[in-house]
Amino acid sequence: MTVSIDNNSGFCYGVTRAIRTAEEELKRGQLFCLGDIVHNGQEVKRLEQLGLETIDYDDLRTLHNIRVLLRAHGEPPSTYHIAHNNGIEVIDATCSVVKKLQERIHFTYTEHRDAQIVIYGKAGHAEVIGLQGQTNNTAITIESERDLNKIDFTRDIYLFSQTTKSVEGFNHLVELIKAKRSESRTSAIFEYNNTICRNVANRVAKIKAFAAAQDVVIFVGGRKSSNARVLFEHCLEANANTYFIENSNDLKEIVIDRDAKVGICGATSTPQWLMQDVADALLATNQATLS
Ligand code: SF4
Repeated sequence: MTVSIDNNSGFCYGVTRAIRTAEEELKRGQLFCLGDIVHNGQEVKRLEQLGLETIDYDDLRTLHNIRVLLRAHGEPPSTYHIAHNNGIEVIDATCSVVKKLQERIHFTYTEHRDAQIVIYGKAGHAEVIGLQGQTNNTAITIESERDLNKIDFTRDIYLFSQTTKSVEGFNHLVELIKAKRSESRTSAIFEYNNTICRNVANRVAKIKAFAAAQDVVIFVGGRKSSNARVLFEHCLEANANTYFIENSNDLKEIVIDRDAKVGICGATSTPQWLMQDVADALLATNQATLS
């Protein structure tokens, strides 16, 4: 068996920055994080061991005079208001890509009050809550074509995307919306903005090529991570022998041929150390070599 780790997998720029910020700020004293710092339980556990305390919105409303880190996903304006009212010091680790998207959506909302702002994203996802907040929660969230009936095709539409959605899914929706609009013979505006993070979009081709070159692919990711879901699906498309695991314990469920060429990869929220841990577990239980 040979084992290799995909060079292009692992934390993206925004997550790396949020985690570095947490590590630095923990040296200054007690630090809370609003929501899991990253959609990866193993990394959350590691940072909790360093002292990071995860809180939710209910906690935020009741706590005063503490320091709270806002993760890469970003937050709606209401979070900043609560923090301000409660004397909370905000350590803002919102990814700059998400920040820019929030500003664009807010600008569109204020400039085009009668238009429909549509966000292609996962309802309830932290980033989407932050984006919705830029429109006073008036934006329409669509997860797939099943939600298209929420849109009035005779009115102006400004479409944006959550940063971690798939480009194919976005393009598909654009085509469907165009078709619906021509059915309604409308002259209303349809402006679509592919705001998928290049960091994520660029990974698709690379991870597919990596997956296709393996006998077996072990995809390491958090089950709550939407980026992990998307990248896993792409790996599966490229290689039917792809397995999703959260950590090395899950390897027990997988039977791998002893002569197989095994590739380990992961999401933008998967720490490098976790992929290495999975590689070490494979090397320890099989007469494998790391390539
Ligand atoms: S995926 Fe892109 S937008 Fe999201 S945190 Fe990473 S770098 Fe930022």
